[in-house]
Amino acid sequence: MPLDIRASLLLLHEQPPDRFRGLADTSRHPVSPKTRGNDLLSSYSEMTTFITESPWNRARPRVLVVACSDGRLQENLDDFLQRSLRITHYDRLYAPGGAGALTRSGSDFIRAGFYRRECLDLVRLHGIQSLILLFHGPAIDGPAEAVCADYRRKLPASSLRDIRRQQEVDARELRSAGLGWPMPVETLVFRCEVGADDVVRFAALAAEPPQIA
Ligand SMILES: [Zn+2]
Repeated sequence: MPLDIRASLLLLHEQPPDRFRGLADTSRHPVSPKTRGNDLLSSYSEMTTFITESPWNRARPRVLVVACSDGRLQENLDDFLQRSLRITHYDRLYAPGGAGALTRSGSDFIRAGFYRRECLDLVRLHGIQSLILLFHGPAIDGPAEAVCADYRRKLPASSLRDIRRQQEVDARELRSAGLGWPMPVETLVFRCEVGADDVVRFAALAAEPPQIA
């Protein structure tokens, strides 16, 4: 558990705000100085009963989003999905590397096979009809720290430009060869790019070539 959450819990226990009063039944778990550390966690589970504004949505999403676990882009991804693609109800497969987790990138055969099978199971079991595959990293002029840590792991000696090229190769592989099985699903591939100005853009990768009339 992150330290800031633990700190919040401590404050919550010491001085519960009005909205939490009455939710904690400390009579069954009295807090003593000796047991306070462990008791914080047990009372936390009682104090954080929370009812969401929305009821359960029974409708099974038909879109699966595959994206990197990198939380720095979480809000940007939500914004892109909601306002650009109009997707708000979707299944998700978040893993280090995002769409890159499904590809070998030259050497990662076993891991790519594992994530491809996981993805296939979701497609089959959930009746997925559309796949949104996402890479991420800095734009050409973007900050080095925006690089995908999983691609840095896979390609430790590569330049940022070469990592971008590898992602484009991987995107073409996913678009052309699928995930190793016949995929009757619409597939869109994007890269989330951070520019020098910290602006975040989503660019299509391995798009269909223009039709020649
Ligand atoms: Zn990443």
